[in-house]
Amino acid sequence: MALMQDYDIVMGLEIHAELATKTKVFCSCKNEFGDEPNTNTCPVCTGMPGSLPILNKRAVELAIKAGLAFGSSISKYTVFERKNYFYPDLSKAYQISQLVYPLNLGGGIRLDSGKFIRLNRIHLEEDAGKLTHISKAVGTFVDYNRGGTPLIEMVTEPDFTSAEEVIEFLKRVREILVFEDIAKCKMEQGGLRCDVNLSVKKKGSTELGTRTEMKNLNSFKSVQRAIEYEAKRQIELVSSGEEVVQETRKWDDDKGKSLSMRTKEEAQDYRYFPDPDLHALKISDEDIAKIRSEMTMLPEERRAMYQSAFGLPKYDAEILTTSKYISDYFENCVKLYNNPKKISNWIMVDLLKIVKDQGKDQDDIEFPVSEQDLVAIIKMVEEKLIGKNLGLELLEKIIIKREDPMQLAKSLGMLVTISDEEILALLKKLKAENEKVSIDYKSDPEKISGFIVGYVMKNTGGKANSLKVKSLICEVFEK
Ligand SMILES: [Zn+2]
Repeated sequence: MALMQDYDIVMGLEIHAELATKTKVFCSCKNEFGDEPNTNTCPVCTGMPGSLPILNKRAVELAIKAGLAFGSSISKYTVFERKNYFYPDLSKAYQISQLVYPLNLGGGIRLDSGKFIRLNRIHLEEDAGKLTHISKAVGTFVDYNRGGTPLIEMVTEPDFTSAEEVIEFLKRVREILVFEDIAKCKMEQGGLRCDVNLSVKKKGSTELGTRTEMKNLNSFKSVQRAIEYEAKRQIELVSSGEEVVQETRKWDDDKGKSLSMRTKEEAQDYRYFPDPDLHALKISDEDIAKIRSEMTMLPEERRAMYQSAFGLPKYDAEILTTSKYISDYFENCVKLYNNPKKISNWIMVDLLKIVKDQGKDQDDIEFPVSEQDLVAIIKMVEEKLIGKNLGLELLEKIIIKREDPMQLAKSLGMLVTISDEEILALLKKLKAENEKVSIDYKSDPEKISGFIVGYVMKNTGGKANSLKVKSLICEVFEK
């Protein structure tokens, strides 16, 4: 495809994220995914005549928090406007959004390459209901539960030149929104959706081509595929002398192609105007300071700290920052016991395996053992009071029984109880039974010691102190 290389791709994004509030943005209906259709509705969110919206303060706070997290400047004065259009999923016939005075302006994210992707704005608006098309014969169902859910819309400048940049950006946005408890971003539930504006131009040219908009992409994979498809389609059109039509296109993930939804001629004039039922909002420095005080250290900063201050490998740092919960849990453990690498191993290898076996979603993971109890077990293993395998068994028992680890280990007879004499007897027995061990010991004592320790552990039910065993080996085998 020499052709592709002759063109630059230019892209901008509009990202919608549903805010993690308990209730909707202008009424007290529950903001909950998956409930029985049309049960979380009221006259306000369905737009019945005479009903009046009341702004959800938490939604505004979360939207401001998003602005702070992405380095936007927070507007001191912001206005809600009505965006008027008719569609069956919008029973009000207008959406409350922001046009002229959005809540947050500017900001952005620096990609790993060092390139800065600029945000134009982050504003607050409400979501529409959801249509489910069954068939021509049966028709279409509408569920207004989602109508009135608070959304932030993040609009970027047209700074992207590849699908990889878009995906990296989206992943970082998702990570930050989830980490700060701003949005849950469950993509499969539509909690984070992305529109991609895309145009192509001759390499090096400063003149932008005609752009198309692809709507509501809700997985990283469909974003990637849709971009690749659309870029190829536009380049083929332009290079064969045809024109790209400015239009909105819908990506069909099953068919692997996009279809025209509406062209510019059909584009609607939304007749935005300030919502007369809602006051303009004034935001004070105190409001902003209060929200800022709620913020946590962002995942990127934590990864850097884990590597520099705790000396962890990059891999560990990445796994431990997959959610704020895991990250906080790890840091709490380190505060109790300053042995970050050992704690990291137990969390990454053992605890995460236990919760994943229970089928938990990465973002919903909570560990079934307290930081104090986990650290108590790790310390017992490190101080050789208990073998590693028995330590793991103890962990599993603590999860079920929720008892004090030391007490439980004692009552179950898990602690190291084997005397030096018993260890020496076992070593002598091994020497007598297995001549090869002595020969191997003479050629490379270090290499065979693991086998010998394993033999003693196996024959004591794991209750010998492995360090002790190691120190006693020479007494038997060097004679
Ligand atoms: Zn409602």
